[in-house]
Amino acid sequence: MFIGHFGVALAAKKVAPRTSLGTLLMAAQFADLLWPLFLLLGVERVIISPGATAVTPLDFVSYPLSHSLFADLGWACAFAGIYKLVKQDSRGAVCLWFVLISHWLLDALSHQPDLPLYPGSSRYVGFGLWNSRAWTFLVESAIFLIGVRVYAKTTHPRDRLGSMAFRSFISLLYLLYLINMFSPPPPSERAIAYAALGMWLFVAWAYWLDSHRLATSPPPSAPLITLGPLSEQPPAP
Ligand SMILES: [Zn+2]
Repeated sequence: MFIGHFGVALAAKKVAPRTSLGTLLMAAQFADLLWPLFLLLGVERVIISPGATAVTPLDFVSYPLSHSLFADLGWACAFAGIYKLVKQDSRGAVCLWFVLISHWLLDALSHQPDLPLYPGSSRYVGFGLWNSRAWTFLVESAIFLIGVRVYAKTTHPRDRLGSMAFRSFISLLYLLYLINMFSPPPPSERAIAYAALGMWLFVAWAYWLDSHRLATSPPPSAPLITLGPLSEQPPAP
């Protein structure tokens, strides 16, 4: 799954308003942020296999450290624990734990049975949503758009950048998603890893845009910027 994970991070802002969208996104995408590093280190493996599923031409041969259930449970505890130590925010820490684990659950929904339960396990999970391009598009777009709407209602721009950075973030993500759905297979496994490293830029972008938004009521004089069906509304008084 791709933008569905972003949808979870955006929606989680409602549960953990003190937590930056950057941190929420890092948790939601933690497995996919680690994955290219492990690929480049030769610890995990992917091969290009056109037709592997209707959505992706990738065959995830081995990724026990980034994408096994037990490894992700460990990453979730470490991630939430460090956040709690640094920020003293229990609510945010618990939310981050669930957000990080949601990655494995959504991947399990999408992938072929290739997600191991633990490193070394011979039992693999995957419910194969990726075998249908239409259903993948519908499910993933729905999760993403719900997340966008929740975030837009939970926060409001504190300045012009807060609106522009959010709108461009959402638009570019969705555009990349569509391109990714209909583009030919990547040229090499190494190219996949380098492209996947680009996801860290979205984490940095999320920190930046979130710093230009507030999760509280806007000052009475603040102008509202509407986005059509995804309008950014102030919270109810
Ligand atoms: Zn993943």
